[in-house]
Amino acid sequence: MISDQKVIGVDVGGTKIAAGLVSAEGKIVSAVRRLTDVSSPEATLDSISRSIFSLTEKLKLDIHELGPIGFGIPGLVDRNSGIGIASVNLGWKNVKVRSGLESRLGVRCVIENDVRAGALGELRFGTAKGYKNFVYLNIGTGISAVVILDGAFYSGVNGIAGEIGHAVIDPGGPLCKCGGQGCFEAIASGPAIAQRAIKKIRNGKSSMLSLDGQGPLNTITPEEIFIAAEQKDGLALEVINEVGGFIAHALEYLVLAYDPQIIVIGGSICLKSKILNRIISQKLQELSDQSWVFAKAYRKGLIRLSTLGNNAGVFGAAALVS
Ligand SMILES: [Zn+2]
Repeated sequence: MISDQKVIGVDVGGTKIAAGLVSAEGKIVSAVRRLTDVSSPEATLDSISRSIFSLTEKLKLDIHELGPIGFGIPGLVDRNSGIGIASVNLGWKNVKVRSGLESRLGVRCVIENDVRAGALGELRFGTAKGYKNFVYLNIGTGISAVVILDGAFYSGVNGIAGEIGHAVIDPGGPLCKCGGQGCFEAIASGPAIAQRAIKKIRNGKSSMLSLDGQGPLNTITPEEIFIAAEQKDGLALEVINEVGGFIAHALEYLVLAYDPQIIVIGGSICLKSKILNRIISQKLQELSDQSWVFAKAYRKGLIRLSTLGNNAGVFGAAALVS
């Protein structure tokens, strides 16, 4: 028997959809992953609902036995109206996501931006459990933060609070999609880390990454750079050192701006490299040793990695309805 405390959370990504049944204790009972069809908004909604039906079929569940379903969606989302305002990854603009899903599934649906859902997932099931004032920093293909003050989202006057990905942390640095130059996102997001390595290789620096030889340079991934760094590749270590230093600065800004109980780092980048995390910690300690102001707020354990792992997106979506 499935207890009514279990809920379905759906992490909708530009390439993959993960749908999982999550227990009130924070365990994934079962999950399915399917490719996202982004050929049209209707096709995307179809592929989302198919992934949920394949989960309920796998579990031999009647979807109507469950409560509402939560969805974490990339891009700008209006939770109240249920509209997906804009999403680069899904290629949609002003799509009636909630009503489209509800008509396909026949149950109530709640949609939210995926990073905001991620913060709720940390609060409900993860590292931020029991905290009322924290910042959730997502470093993945993009970078943004979510600020929780007194247990509620702090969005700012224009809904921009937490858009730290577009704070310039390296004037004169790489150009950003937003029009800025040297934005945090243009330096420490997955694609930006890869670009930094590629640029160094093009400038003639030798590296096992360039000798890898299988494909063109532009197929280098952050994961390959992290592996090369573990194997003491000089160029990869240089990239991680530089990027880690910038991430530490951005974390210092967040600490000084919000003085939170903790900052939780989620997303695909920091979770994949021990060396990167070590460099970030070292740099933060240096910054704290230099500034008595920062030292008043900074302590070991202030900055933590998400513990929700690969299913963080599913937990976040489940937290919307649990
Ligand atoms: Zn930017």
